[in-house]
Parts: sequence; structure tokens; C-alpha cells
Amino acid sequence: MSAMKKLVVGNWKMHGSRAFNAELIQGLLAADLAATAPKADVAVCPPFVFLSEVALALDGSGIGVGVQDVSVQVQGAYTGEVACPMVRELGAKYAIVGHSERRSYHAESDQLVANKAKVALSHGLTPIVCVGETLAERESGQTEAVVSRQLQAVIDSLGDQLVQIVVAYEPVWAIGTGKTASPEQAQAVHAFLRAQLKAAHAQAASVPLLYGGSVKPDNAVELFAQPDIDGGLIGGAALKAADFAAIARAA
Ligand code: PEP
Repeated sequence: MSAMKKLVVGNWKMHGSRAFNAELIQGLLAADLAATAPKADVAVCPPFVFLSEVALALDGSGIGVGVQDVSVQVQGAYTGEVACPMVRELGAKYAIVGHSERRSYHAESDQLVANKAKVALSHGLTPIVCVGETLAERESGQTEAVVSRQLQAVIDSLGDQLVQIVVAYEPVWAIGTGKTASPEQAQAVHAFLRAQLKAAHAQAASVPLLYGGSVKPDNAVELFAQPDIDGGLIGGAALKAADFAAIARAA
């Protein structure tokens, strides 16, 4: 996979304001990532309400936009939900689905996440499917069982479309905690996920596998050097233009 461009995606979570975003975007534009990080495809995922404004501000910059979640429904009486065609119309290219915060705070099941990935694909969005184990699951030796169960639901739902997704391995214990999986720990899980994808569909071996969990400028180079790490899903560090640009350059 290392010959492919890396993919670096920022997840802004529920942060930002119009003023904060404008400053962050100004910093990203000044970093001129198209020139300074030519080996990375870069995107940011702001909260839904800022999508339109952020997409317009980044238009022509080479930095794509995505969303942090989508509804599994396409239209109708689903109060508070946001549909794939809506975000597509506003310029979103990616949709994160199954982030651990959605799985834990909103009780999203493996099947719902798989259904969201399918709906996203059918409306022209690339789903970034997140998988990852909790600390208790890792310590009890269940890491592979958990991530493979989460990924298998997606494999079973997508069939041939599997080749069109992105997968992000995000160990829950490393998200927002400052504890990063070591490059070896991350690589081991990525290799496992790669094998599962390949076994399901030969061409799915090329599905980009992002690592997420406290990626920072000072650990990105080593993580991205692993043979099965094709980029990163970046939370906290994506809110600082200099850090996010440095991570993109580490690709
Ligand atoms: C995330 O929430 O997707 C994430 C990886 O967060 P952080 O980089 O802050 O750990």
C-alpha cells in the first residue's frame, strides 16, 4: 500500500465556531498542503452546521471535506437526522461512520454502522468505517475478535462495494487520551484487518487503512511508515493548523 497516496482526515468533533473555523482554515490554506504535503490526500470533517461554509472556504485548495456521521435514512420524518444526499450536495466527499463515540454514546450497533456505510456509498460518499477495541477488550485478548466482528458486518453488507470504503482502526483507549498505540501494535491490527478484507474480496486488499488515536506530529512519521498504515484519522491535533499540516507532511 505504501506506493499509494496516504489519506489524512481531520475529525473536528463538536468543536469550532465560525471565527475559530475561519482561523483554522486560514492556517491550513497558508500551509499550502498541495505543495508541501504532495503525498497526502487531505480532508476535514467539521460539524454538520459548518459543512457548507467550510466546503466553500476550502474550495479549490485540494483539501476535501467530510462529515462525522450520517443518517441511515435518506429522507423523511427523522427529527434531528442529516441525510447523505444533503451533505453530498454541500460538498462532502467522506462520511465517518461507526466512530467509537457514536457506538458508545449513541448505541450504534455493528449492523447500523454497516447500513450507514452502504447508504453513504449509494449516495456518492466514501464511508470511513471506524473499528476499535476498548482497553478492557485489549487487556482480555479480544482485540482481533472485536475489530473483526465490527468489520465483518460491513463486509457482509457491502459485497463488491467493499473495495470503495476506507477503514480506520481507532483503539478506543487511544482516542483523545494522549496514549498512542505503538507503531507495532497498530501495524499488527492493520495487517489483521488487511487479511480479513482480502479474504472477503481480493481487490479489497487495497482498501486504505487509517490509524486514529492521539496521532501527533511527533508520532505520525513512525506510524505512517508501517506497511499497512495508509494514513490517519486525526482528532485533537486536527484543531491546530500547524499540527495537522505537520501530520499531513509526515505522510
Ligand atoms: C478521533 O476521534 O477520531 C481521534 C483519533 O481523536 P484523537 O486524535 O484526539 O485521539
